[in-house]
Amino acid sequence: MFKGILIQNDEAGYRASLTDLDESQLPEGDVTIRVSHSTLNFKDALALTGKGPVVRTFPMVPGVDLVGIVEQSSHSDYVVGDEVILNGWGVGEKHWGGLAQKARVNGDWLVPMRGRFTPQQAMAIGTAGYTAMLCVLALERHGVKPEHGEIVVTGAAGGVGSVATAVLAKLGFTVVAVSGRPEEADYIKSLGAAEVLDRTMFTSPGKPLQKERWAGAIDVVGSHTLATVCATTRYRGVVTACGLAGGMDFPATVAPFILRGVTLVGIDSVMCPRLERLEAWRRLSLDLDVSKLATISKEVGLSELIPLATKMLNGELRGRVVVDVN
Ligand code: NDP
Repeated sequence: MFKGILIQNDEAGYRASLTDLDESQLPEGDVTIRVSHSTLNFKDALALTGKGPVVRTFPMVPGVDLVGIVEQSSHSDYVVGDEVILNGWGVGEKHWGGLAQKARVNGDWLVPMRGRFTPQQAMAIGTAGYTAMLCVLALERHGVKPEHGEIVVTGAAGGVGSVATAVLAKLGFTVVAVSGRPEEADYIKSLGAAEVLDRTMFTSPGKPLQKERWAGAIDVVGSHTLATVCATTRYRGVVTACGLAGGMDFPATVAPFILRGVTLVGIDSVMCPRLERLEAWRRLSLDLDVSKLATISKEVGLSELIPLATKMLNGELRGRVVVDVN
């Protein structure tokens, strides 16, 4: 038996609870992992609360991230004792995920840890941090360089925003952070932001084209915020869009794209091809100051997690939440 969070949805309603699970209940897979840590991502918060249609089959162990030690393997790349990370691939949505002491998965989904991070550091990064790095890689791929000008990061006090700010600053970019929490301005600046703007400047409808400012952008908010980011991006600037914390809609015009040559790049971490994932984790080991992860993250146990999900959806959590599942 082992402990885990189980989401059920039946005649008794949609509910998440901490419970005892049996190894025979684990799904099919060629690698069984003794999980040490998982995380709370925005998607996990939607799954735990039932506020978004994240979970596709029930019952489900949520958790889109995990780190742990291989306990059994029939996969050619992994042997017992290997340290591995898993992010995405539908884990915690349609395949049992990381918020339990054991997981059984497809070995092709795993990333070897190779001693780059401690388990806590790997999960302080988690899907949010790996997505932040995918955004940075996309900016680089589209030719954005520090000398081109300021990069705007929205939702800066959240998980993706915190890691994005830290990585961009270390790479020499001038980061302008956008946040709805003035009380977190010192925290955001400690990660390397040069300036923190109030998010109300971005959240209401604005003109299709506004004063040009950003050479690049990482947006986690969507809706009017993404529209404003595009409308204020400089000629030939690059906007990466990865989130919907403020809404799924995109009330914009094509003006920034056809008149200023702005590029809008979509970022998906879940089905991201393996080579790009490996590159993102490699770059995180080079371009993230891991000493900042202690400020970015806090650690909780499985029993403390469920109330935190509502706080996260209310935008009340700072940085990242690491879950020690033991
Ligand atoms: P967090 O909850 O940690 O951070 C989101 C931040 O967005 C908040 O901290 C807040 O920042 C800001 N925010 C929240 N609500 C609003 C609002 N109504 N209007 C404007 N800003 C708001 O979540 P994550 O950083 O983990 O994830 C951010 C987004 O990215 C989510 O939508 C998530 O689903 C998405 N995501 C997408 C991935 C992908 O593969 N595409 C992978 C990972 C995440 P502040 O207080 O500073 O304003």
